[in-house]
Order: sequence, then C-alpha cells, then structure tokens
Amino acid sequence: MIYFSTNTSSIPVSIKRATLEGLAPDGGLYIPSEIPKFSPEELALLAGGSFNNIALAIAKKFIGTAIPPHQLSEMIEECYPFETPIVSLDQNTFVEELFHGPTLAFKDYGARFLARLTGYFAAEDERLITVLVATSGDTGSAVAYGFQGIANTRVVLLYPSGKVSRLQEQQLTTAGGNVYALEVEGDFDDCQRMVKEAFVDPALKERLTLTSANSINISRLIPQSFYYAWATLQLKELYGYSEPVFSVPSGNYGNLTAGILAKKMGFPVGHFIAASNANDSVTRYLHEGRYEPRPTQTTLSTAMDVGNPSNFARLRYFYRNDSVAMGRDISGIAVSDAETLATIRSVYERFGYVMDPHTAVAYRALEQYRSSQGNNNQPGVVLSTAHPAKFLESIESTLAIKIAIPSRLEDLLEKKKTATLISSEYRELASFLEGLDQ
Ligand SMILES: *Cc1c(COP(=O)(O)O)cnc(C)c1O
Repeated sequence: MIYFSTNTSSIPVSIKRATLEGLAPDGGLYIPSEIPKFSPEELALLAGGSFNNIALAIAKKFIGTAIPPHQLSEMIEECYPFETPIVSLDQNTFVEELFHGPTLAFKDYGARFLARLTGYFAAEDERLITVLVATSGDTGSAVAYGFQGIANTRVVLLYPSGKVSRLQEQQLTTAGGNVYALEVEGDFDDCQRMVKEAFVDPALKERLTLTSANSINISRLIPQSFYYAWATLQLKELYGYSEPVFSVPSGNYGNLTAGILAKKMGFPVGHFIAASNANDSVTRYLHEGRYEPRPTQTTLSTAMDVGNPSNFARLRYFYRNDSVAMGRDISGIAVSDAETLATIRSVYERFGYVMDPHTAVAYRALEQYRSSQGNNNQPGVVLSTAHPAKFLESIESTLAIKIAIPSRLEDLLEKKKTATLISSEYRELASFLEGLDQ
C-alpha cells in the first residue's frame, strides 16, 4: 500500500514514511492510494469475531508487508486491552462507548496505535524519535499514555500553565519515563507557536528527529476505522440490523473521516451525521456548498471547538470537492450549548444514562436527523467520545447527581506531578530539547 498527499504534488511514500513524517512535504495530508476492500465473504468471516480480530484484519490491509503479521497482531493486543461496549438505549438507538481506554477519551484508539507504529519504524532504523506536541488537554494525555514506555520514542508535551483542568494536568504530568511535560507560562497559542518554531529550527534538525502526533497523521486515522467496523458487525450479529446511521461528535473531523474509510472498505454503514457545536464550518459547507471557516468559539463540548478542521482536506479529497456528493453520505447538524444541556438531562430522565457534553451533541443530532427524515426506526449509533467523569462540573450541575469517578482516575489524582516550568520564549524550549540525551 502506498500513500500520497491530498495536495498531490509530493511523491507517494510508504506507510513508514507517512507515519514518521505526519504532514506531506507539500503541506497536504496523506491518504492511501486506494482504499482496501473487504468482500462479502471476508465480512462474513469477521462477523462474530473479537474487536482485536477485526482491527488486525483492517490493519493488515493498510500496512501490507511493512510489519510482519504476528508483530502487528501483538501490537493490536497491546493497543486495545480494554472493551468497546455498544450500549442499547432503546430498540434501535445505541451508544458506542469509546472511553474505556487509559485517558477516558476516544483519542486513545488513535494515539496508542500511532505510538506502536512509530516505535516499530524507529527501531528498524535504530533511531530515537522525539514526538513534540502542544496540547490544550485531551490529545496530549492520549499521546503521553500512548507512547509511555515505547522503545525508540520519547514525548515532549507543552501545555499552558493554569489553563488545563486538574485531571488533565495530572494526565499530562505523571506518565513519566520517556514522557516529558513542559508547563508553559503562556496560552495554548504560545505552545503551538513554540512547537512550530522547533520544527523549522535547523540546529535542532541536526541533532534530533522530531515528529508530531496530531490528528493529521494517517496512523492515527486508520485505527479509528476499527470501531465503526466493529459496530456494524456487532449490530448485525446481535440484532440483525444493517446499515446503521452513525452520529459523530466532530472537531477536527478525524473521527468522521475514519468512518468514511470504514464505509469505503465495505462495512455496511447507512449514513453519517457530522454533529458539531457552534463551530459549524463543515455543517455550513454541507448546506451551502461553500467552505468559509470562522474563528473558533468556546462551547461546552470543548474538544470540538475547532474553527478550521484539519481533516476536512481529506473529506474534500474523497468527494472531489463536491458538497452535494458529500451530502449523500454525510448530514451536517449543529447543536447549541443550551440543546446540549437539555439533552444530557432528557437522556438521563428517559434512560438513566449519563452522557458527557460531546456525546450529547451527537445524540441530539441523531434525534434531529431522524425527525427530519420522518423515520425513527433506522438503527442509529451515537459515538461516545469521552467518559462523563472528564466533565464533572457541567454534568453534576446539570443533573444534580454525583458521578462516580472510575478508580483508575482516583489513582491518577494521587500521583506526583513532574513538569518543567518554562516561559513562552522559544529559546527555553530549544535549550530543553538540546539538553535531552542523544
Ligand atoms: C477530539 C475529540 C472530539 C473531536 O474529534 P475529531 O476527530 O477531532 O473530530 C470529540 N470528542 C472528544 C471528547 C474529543 O476529545
């Protein structure tokens, strides 16, 4: 399998190059030259299998011979030692819980796979790869725990001091070992600016192999197709349902793009809902056919606060820039903060189920889609991207209930924070990186 850039002016590369480079040299995003297909016979063989079995079958097609199958199989086992439950709310409404990984958010699915691939390819070349990430929360913690203990890699995280929650800070600063946390006296934009500067610093390039782990990396995207495939096969197996609608709470649209991959591979998806908050650039594109990104607005579903989503480049490429064609597969629905809170409340009252704000956006969008279609019977899957305990404040005040914190989080809160405090001057980051072992 070879990968080329959505801007099409770079030469095609191997999965190894695409993984280690992240962004293509022409500024585009890597996509597979052709999307592998599963025949009906192959799908029948996968049905009833475990999550990891399905994951391995998909990974093999995208990775080809770059990693021997038995090693790929071991990697998958290490990536996903946790469950991916599909909870039924009523006869045809399901919540796929993607928050049972170590950081309680779905970003674990992508980050853990990317970490192992990066480690494998770095070891082949006997290199040490330094992953540099600016984070405002969720991505950094998934990357920290994903790369923790992976040989031939280390992670340097920059986060804005005093601007992440206590839980997030604990996740960012307690992984230890090959994970270094830098607490920056500045805001998230300062962190991003410093990271960008490091990537173009010729002196650093001589000494370190730097890479990023953001959601443009194709090896974060591929594994996100696993849970779509799993859900389609499980719904068929357990309920006899086919062609469900997936409602996807979207920010950078990596999650949705992975769903499109799953559909193109042949897994039976009926339709997608791109559920957004007030940051509705893609929703407006789907309705009006023009892409006019706007500045980011702050909402309750903070991880979806993205004004100009990076993975939109891939979606556009797949649909040849045709919003009508995209609209046949994807409906865009924007949900306000007030609707989000009302949904958390009504879902709790109707089903006794507690949703975090991101999941509630997707649930509300599914309801709206069904009523616009006048069809409440099509099976629907809401992707639940975060555990409600991650957003305690908004949930406890909305529902007037106490949320039990999972025990692994309580342990985390006890751990000792280790971070290096630096100013927002680039040279402080540079000297930290220069001080790392070769
Ligand atoms: C990152 C994130 C999202 C958005 O996912 P994208 O792939 O960026 O669209 C949604 N919910 C949660 C909890 C997240 O952390």
